[in-house]
Amino acid sequence: MTKGLLAVYTGNGKGKTTAALGLAVRALGHGKKVCFIQFIKGAWKSGESNLAQKFAGLLDFHVMGRGFTWKSDDLEKDRAVARQAWDFAVSMIRANTYDLIVLDELTYLIHYAMIAEDEIVDVLAARPPALHLIITGRYASDGLIRAADLVTEMLAVKHPYASGVKAQKGFEY
Ligand code: ATP
Ligand code: MG
Repeated sequence: MTKGLLAVYTGNGKGKTTAALGLAVRALGHGKKVCFIQFIKGAWKSGESNLAQKFAGLLDFHVMGRGFTWKSDDLEKDRAVARQAWDFAVSMIRANTYDLIVLDELTYLIHYAMIAEDEIVDVLAARPPALHLIITGRYASDGLIRAADLVTEMLAVKHPYASGVKAQKGFEY
């Protein structure tokens, strides 16, 4: 019997979403079903979202609405988008049809007080017992870290952005 793990990839260094994708690919290689939910919509069409078409029926990829920005002047709208996105994630967790669910950039929902930490932690704690969950994003809250079985903090030692290299297709997105 599989013990579903809760993994958190946090910190300022690059590699959080990449690590989640790496585990997703590993699981797909074993014929497992993966759901990847992206809470913040990137500016570019990412390689990972294209991949979903090639793994139809095994990898379901969801980009939540326009995402929320927490910098917008319409906080109520942001809250509503965050709520809708979280409710969708809850339905995917409870459906119990996946082996692995990735909640990419979920940490910001808590960090920017869009959804209460308690509410999120309660849903995570009540997940189906064999389901693996991965959460990514900076500023993982204390409650998330306590709830997790695995926490890795990415340390930014060096990043090409600092020397003027812009985001590249196939490396950043
Ligand atoms: P990736 O998706 O490449 O694994 P990530 O999920 O760890 O990165 P995020 O915080 O989600 O990082 O930021 C996404 C984007 O910001 C990526 O394009 C990434 O290369 C870039 N980025 C991540 N860390 C840094 C950093 N320390 N300095 C500059 N840019 C960064
Ligand atoms: Mg990321």
